[in-house]
Amino acid sequence: MTHPWKSSGDKRTVVAFYEPTDEVIRYLEDMRDAVYYGMVVAYQEQRRNNRYGLPSPIRLRALIKDWFCSRYTYARHHVNPVCRTAVALLRSYRKKHHGQLKIPTLTRLAMKVDSSLFKLVHNQVRITIQPKHYAWLPINVVHKHFDEYSRGKPSEVLLTDTKICLTFVVGVEHKPIGRKFIATDINFGTLDTTVATTQSGVTVLENTNSESIGRIGEIQSDFARRRTMIQKHVRNPQKRNRKLAECRGRQRNRIKDALHKVSTQQVRKNPGTSFIFENLKGIRKSGETKGLKFRTTLNRWPYHMYQSLVDYKSPNRTIYASPRGTSSECPVCGGKLEHPTWAVSRCVYCGVDYDRNRLASLAILRRGLRLCGQPFAVSADPSWKALRDEYLYTAGVPAGSGAGWTEPPNAPNENLGGNARV
Ligand SMILES: [Zn+2]
Repeated sequence: MTHPWKSSGDKRTVVAFYEPTDEVIRYLEDMRDAVYYGMVVAYQEQRRNNRYGLPSPIRLRALIKDWFCSRYTYARHHVNPVCRTAVALLRSYRKKHHGQLKIPTLTRLAMKVDSSLFKLVHNQVRITIQPKHYAWLPINVVHKHFDEYSRGKPSEVLLTDTKICLTFVVGVEHKPIGRKFIATDINFGTLDTTVATTQSGVTVLENTNSESIGRIGEIQSDFARRRTMIQKHVRNPQKRNRKLAECRGRQRNRIKDALHKVSTQQVRKNPGTSFIFENLKGIRKSGETKGLKFRTTLNRWPYHMYQSLVDYKSPNRTIYASPRGTSSECPVCGGKLEHPTWAVSRCVYCGVDYDRNRLASLAILRRGLRLCGQPFAVSADPSWKALRDEYLYTAGVPAGSGAGWTEPPNAPNENLGGNARV
């Protein structure tokens, strides 16, 4: 039986042969050395810290990143597959030898390359060796499904000195767009949503809602308290660091667990729905305001986590809309928004104060619908007129500006707060 959530994409691998250049061979040799070094460091770490076993690839990356960057001029991303490979090799060695751990010798030249570092252009594979410096590898594929698979999202490449194994995620594109749309803006402690349905090309706004996800704020402040206690009472710096790392790990797990529950509930409650989120990728590149930056540094991890959980669990396609300017442009009339306080979006043209978070979810909805080829003019629509009051700002209502994602509600975060009010 297949897992009900697994339908979101399968991986297909196509093998192609090629002629390696000297540069590629040198790269593969260097990567083999780096993987070996990674295994040595991971092994030492395991010896030193036996209770926790082998470090995770992410922990290993923290340990060897500086070494990697000072030794090689390769793009820094290459350190990720190095760490994953090193940890995976040690794990499989240990499994094969009944718990015994030794560093295996590496003879083959083989390296995994992250999807961000390669691109398929016609019948050539382009690999980013150094920033802005590429290796072009012409490949000859005879696989009968290659054209079909290569339309999927490239997942990773295994590069050896004779062949390239290209892996694609296929089937993701086949997730249908739902008849219902839920645009979500995630804020400190609330999920603000705007729901719309479409029937034979006509879009109707259904409702807007602010749901508390206070549990996550609670977890954050709970752990912040615990960390303060550790800082205060544990004198031994090594022990303190270990305790703090433990604490962070548990916090992450607790939040992940809470997000799993919220996302499962959302997907189950709303069958046939396409969820619309802000696209967080490249958010740092777009000329963002201080306020947005502030929001994303606070929110990025749980927000991103929540999005990918919903995307993974939903049988319908999830849409990612650009967040650019969502807080400065009125989704109703296109006018300029002002924010006299953090919770208020004031539109001079509409002449009213909107609830900032709910209006943001409306803006996301509009952009998402446009991406689906169903543009929606808000101001002229009767369903907007019926719902308009729901979007107005009412003072005194806790609009989710209290508990933070990463800061406890009563933490002294003056400087952050100052940034928020642009
Ligand atoms: Zn307006």
